[in-house]
Amino acid sequence: MQERKKKIVVLSGAGISAESGIPTFRDSNGLWEGYDVMEVATPQGWAKNPALVLDFYNQRRKKALEVTPNRGHEILAELEKDFDVTIVTQNVDNLHERAGSSHVIHLHGSLFESRSCQDETLVYPIKGWELKLGDLCEKGSQLCPNIVWFGEMVPLMDVAAQYASKADIFIVVGTSMVVYPAAGLINYVSLDAWKYVVDPNLPDMKPMPLLKMFAEKASTGMEKVREELKNIR
Ligand code: NAD
Repeated sequence: MQERKKKIVVLSGAGISAESGIPTFRDSNGLWEGYDVMEVATPQGWAKNPALVLDFYNQRRKKALEVTPNRGHEILAELEKDFDVTIVTQNVDNLHERAGSSHVIHLHGSLFESRSCQDETLVYPIKGWELKLGDLCEKGSQLCPNIVWFGEMVPLMDVAAQYASKADIFIVVGTSMVVYPAAGLINYVSLDAWKYVVDPNLPDMKPMPLLKMFAEKASTGMEKVREELKNIR
């Protein structure tokens, strides 16, 4: 009889894409590429100046298309050979998918989708890098980037929590663990599950069993996690 593959759930944040050349914004005083996040990543910002918000996300999309996944993303994709891997990412780029990960949940939305301002269930792929004022949904209202803005509900949180509760191994990589509800995902993980944290600035975490922390960049830290996993496959 074939043994079931152990389940790995990964919570990734902006830090995993840093080595690909996409900056985090917590490292630059709440500015995201020089923009105040409240102006460009909130419903109020969109209501005030949609042209600025569209331009901001167009630039992020353009940048995301120019860069490539790094070793951190690649190792997570390679783990699918021996494990059943689900990635829960706070990132809006598509570097996990481009590295080869086949099951990625985008908690905070995706740069490569638009949604209707009038009906949030109308979601479309974005081809290329630009979404413009005047690009309309099938009901005739403006399209905005399909991003979960600060202050909004996170619709996929329940699904992510279900996966976290069934994880045999939970890996946190490149996130400050201060953005909620995503940071609360670890509270759903079983006490019996192994937990690994990779971040050069280790987040404050309450003590818990089977927790190992690596104060490393995603690329080198994930190599170490992979070594650890060889013993618990
Ligand atoms: P965050 O709260 O997840 O913090 C970034 C973390 O990355 C920090 O703890 C930092 O120490 C760590 N880090 C920096 N360099 C690293 C490296 N080389 N390897 C591993 N970890 C590293 O993220 P944030 O920047 O505060 O962003 C908050 C939200 O903004 C995200 O959750 C996301 O929705 C959005 N965002 C997305 C992207 C993206 O899609 N790539 C980039 C910036 C921000």
